[in-house]
Amino acid sequence: MDDKTHPRHSRETFTKAPSVVFDPDATTPEPVRARFPGQEPPVGLRVGDLGPGGESEPNIRQALLGEPFDDPVAPGSVRCVACAHRCVLRPSRIGICGVRQNRGGWLYTLAYGQIVAAKAEPIEKKPFYHFMPGSYAYSIGTQGCNFHCAFCQNWEMSQAHREGLVPESRNVTPEEVVEEAVAAGARSIAYTYVEPTVFIDFALDSMARAGAAGLHNVFVTNGYETPEAIELIAPHLAAANVDLKAASDEFYRRVCGARWEPVREAVVEMHKRGIWLELTTLVIPGLNDDPGDLRAMAEWIATAIGPETPWHLTRFQPAYRLADLQSTPATTLVNAAAAAREVGLRHVYIGNAPEVEMAETSCARCGERLIGRSDFAVTEWRLVDGRCPRCKHSLAGVGLEDSPVVV
Ligand code: SF4
Repeated sequence: MDDKTHPRHSRETFTKAPSVVFDPDATTPEPVRARFPGQEPPVGLRVGDLGPGGESEPNIRQALLGEPFDDPVAPGSVRCVACAHRCVLRPSRIGICGVRQNRGGWLYTLAYGQIVAAKAEPIEKKPFYHFMPGSYAYSIGTQGCNFHCAFCQNWEMSQAHREGLVPESRNVTPEEVVEEAVAAGARSIAYTYVEPTVFIDFALDSMARAGAAGLHNVFVTNGYETPEAIELIAPHLAAANVDLKAASDEFYRRVCGARWEPVREAVVEMHKRGIWLELTTLVIPGLNDDPGDLRAMAEWIATAIGPETPWHLTRFQPAYRLADLQSTPATTLVNAAAAAREVGLRHVYIGNAPEVEMAETSCARCGERLIGRSDFAVTEWRLVDGRCPRCKHSLAGVGLEDSPVVV
């Protein structure tokens, strides 16, 4: 977020992408409260509604994607347009994600640079199978999430605000994240663990600096970004793995507290903008494992994004509020994968189910084995300049020209 491009006192909706120039001498913007010494708060607001205390709270910053909302009953309301919830926040209220707040009539992020998890992981673990195979992604996440999925594996981070938890965290700058990624030997930074849109301000600052340092940026996302958010991130985002939770609005509403339509729209929009997409579906017994629904999802992916879009079907393991549910039977995953191939999807994978794992990549045209994997590592590489050695068909993806396998 560039303060010169987006002056703190402007109340317009910020939708212009910031400069990607990395300024190593950039200083931290002055605390917001210092802008209002002795001033009266806007009409209808209380003095206590004014901004954060300042340097003691480096994680609290004025946020992108906030706009004034005219509410005659609650002057000083703002609307956050980062995700499709489009929360309207009355003064002092916090959004559904738990990390964006109306402070004094302005939208603030409460989690700027306050990361709860950071580690280098194989990109296959995100999972990406057609994006820079064999490389490492430095993966970071804050707390907070705009969904409240009953099966969340990372609920202690994502649902901390609902569960009354205060996860351990540390404050970092975007420059430090990039330095850590480079030091870890990563070729990309993954914004992950919780929905990255809720910390889009920090992600965006990091993405700009990562690009300047020669790193790629990838999102592991639930696909609830608004078009305004996509416009901001698209220039910096190389790839996204979108968690396609179901093909049913009823599932999204009941299990995740969201809607299905905005996810479809975001996936199509990202695809239009040239962002490499892989999709993941956690198949949960009794909730989204209807064979007809899974087939419909595959049909939608093949039609909307293309038949060579990778689709990762993963096994549910009991977690969070669904701790009493059984894990997904292997046959459910195998049948869903077979149905997906029947409707035309060429790259279907099964994960988290060792007895039926499907982790190898085959040629979409002739079926030749191209990439072998085991335990998130690339073990075999038969591509020649990104093409099948037999029929010369190009494998869909990014960074497929060079073999990561040391022979
Ligand atoms: S990012 Fe958070 S505050 Fe903003 S619209 Fe989504 S849930 Fe609401």
